[in-house]
Amino acid sequence: MPTNLTNQLLDWYAQNGRELPWRVKGGAHFDPYAVWISEIMLQQTTVATVTDYFIRWMKKFPDVKILAKADLQEVLLAWQGLGYYTRARKIHECAHVLTEKYKGEIPVNREELLKLPGIGPYTASSICCFAFNQPETVVDGNVMRVIARLRGITKEITAPEIYPLAQELTSETHGADYASAIMDLGATVCTPTNPKCAICPWIKSCIAYKKRIQEQIPQIKKLAKKEKFGQLYLIQNKDGAYLIRKRSAKGLLAGLWEFPWEEIPALSKEKLPRVVHVFTHFKLTLELIRAPKKANDFPDGIWVNPCNFNQYPFPTLMQKVIKKL
Ligand code: SF4
Repeated sequence: MPTNLTNQLLDWYAQNGRELPWRVKGGAHFDPYAVWISEIMLQQTTVATVTDYFIRWMKKFPDVKILAKADLQEVLLAWQGLGYYTRARKIHECAHVLTEKYKGEIPVNREELLKLPGIGPYTASSICCFAFNQPETVVDGNVMRVIARLRGITKEITAPEIYPLAQELTSETHGADYASAIMDLGATVCTPTNPKCAICPWIKSCIAYKKRIQEQIPQIKKLAKKEKFGQLYLIQNKDGAYLIRKRSAKGLLAGLWEFPWEEIPALSKEKLPRVVHVFTHFKLTLELIRAPKKANDFPDGIWVNPCNFNQYPFPTLMQKVIKKL
């Protein structure tokens, strides 16, 4: 039974799989570096957003050694707008390790991959699968939805619970194509709403379809995000330059640039312009205030004219502020 399902999906993929700039069909990718970069970019970010970034990145840093030689600021600038900047810093750090210890090559086995900065179990499995065609099982949100519906699982589920069910369908011989296929099925056919069951290769075996409960599955527990507030100071000098500062090398948005701001317990009652940004574990609302403080309050700040902002890597939160300006 699993073999039938696996083959049905592989046949469907050969005809209907998406063409993506980091993908090759019919086996392993010729460039494991491209697989690694795309996998890191795709964490928490959509295919549509990643596509342009990936193409620009591969032009700017076409291999591990060139990336390792680049300055971190240059790497952060290329990442600007993708969010979760720790990923970019880890990629840069990993490029150094790969150059120094692995002659600039991506290791072929999972255990070695897991020793590298920024590569966790999911990314290690993805690299083994897409770059080396190994029979690794990769479980992302799309895969969870497809498998939960196929098996008719109505209770709340987690990735570790889905893993063995996904594993029994994984192809022994076509690891890369199979993983791409099940992700594509989730992204284009077995979508969160209005799944296109009529064109699904698994319709005859799908329990959710038989019971007409597709959209009630999967049940994934969502945790409420904590709320935080802050005041951000737009301090301008007589030449029109703004005071900005670099964040410390550790912690949230490390090494990126920002307008000075500080956390406050609650928003003021005045109707001030605001910027809202949702991080992984909390939501932050910043009130924008024009120069209530003197530049001397922020001795680490520098004056930068808005026409030069593009030379400084700002996180997405600060780019929202710049748009407001
Ligand atoms: S039949 Fe429908 S619900 Fe079932 S896997 Fe296919 S698209 Fe998803």
